Amino acid sequence: MSTAFLYSDKFHRFDYGPSHPLKTFRLKLTYELIKAYGLLSMPDTKLVEAVMADENDLVTFHDREYIEILKSANKGVRAAGAGFYGLGSGDNPVFRGLFDWSRLVAGASLQAAAMVDSGEVETAFNISGGLHHAMASRASGFCYLNDPVIAIMSLLKRGRRVAYIDIDAHHGDGVQDAFYTSNKVLTISLHETGRTLFPGTGFEYETGEGEGQGYSVNVPLPPSADDEVFVYAFSEIVPSFVEKFRPDIVVSQLGVDSFSTDPLAHLNYSSKGFCEVVKKIKEFSPKWVALGGGGYDVANVAKAWTLAWGIMNGVDVPDEIPSEFLAHYPMEGFQSGTLRDKDFTERGEANEVVREEVEKVITYLKERVL
Ligand SMILES: [Zn+2]
Repeated sequence: MSTAFLYSDKFHRFDYGPSHPLKTFRLKLTYELIKAYGLLSMPDTKLVEAVMADENDLVTFHDREYIEILKSANKGVRAAGAGFYGLGSGDNPVFRGLFDWSRLVAGASLQAAAMVDSGEVETAFNISGGLHHAMASRASGFCYLNDPVIAIMSLLKRGRRVAYIDIDAHHGDGVQDAFYTSNKVLTISLHETGRTLFPGTGFEYETGEGEGQGYSVNVPLPPSADDEVFVYAFSEIVPSFVEKFRPDIVVSQLGVDSFSTDPLAHLNYSSKGFCEVVKKIKEFSPKWVALGGGGYDVANVAKAWTLAWGIMNGVDVPDEIPSEFLAHYPMEGFQSGTLRDKDFTERGEANEVVREEVEKVITYLKERVL
């Protein structure tokens, strides 16, 4: 099995600001942990330097006017009218290099898509990608350019059918919107319900429109949903929907703000449920473009995406974190010294209520979508 890991040392030089939850340092931490495990020097693995996307690639989805606004914001100065495009709010600050950052992330997703589509590798992982909230002419939820949409557009241009699977804690609204009327892209998002979490969308009745009817699938989960509920909901819906759709290529968003330790969302996943689902994605994805996503507990991000990269390469990564890594990064999140979370105890009754709610959603989707 051949794989590519997209990375650039430039990623972590961009800075959303000291009080912003999105720390680009998490990307360096992930890269360093993967490297410390020796998982970048295997014979069938390529480490590929990320290259900025061309403006021509960006306008396959984004409006030119909005691109001009992002360009002018690249100096770190907020232009008049930028607020109209979602820029400058707490979530989407104007910082020096924001357009360069966004083009680099989008470029890496385009490289990943091209390498997988051409057959050069079976799987490519862009940990900086998965910025799924950006809209055609609006920044949203820490995302300025929507790299999943831009990458999928490049695949559609080559006549491919694409299944997009999003397991971030937040609904993949930007990607859903981009392909809501298309039957060439199946979007499936499992996330914390919009009743309790940004962006407030992603309900089961959002199933697509026109030709796209039935090609947009949402599995909203109640806050506190845990591994068991997550793996169950995923297994009931995703493999059969993907099999029926018969994609040429799978693009997945592997956000890890769904873990119990994450400060922004209220889901309760651990490395156990996350890994089970990533393994299932691998099973039905002979051609697989894997993207990162949310994740605001930086040590957890590094651990979870290291586990995901191990699965992509068919390697059972040892649980003990390499000591030279711990010596360099003596952070609280690594104190346990293990890569995987400890098993949770049973949660009992509250979980029954959650499970019943999820059961209703699954029944609804099977009746109306499948
Ligand atoms: Zn998220």
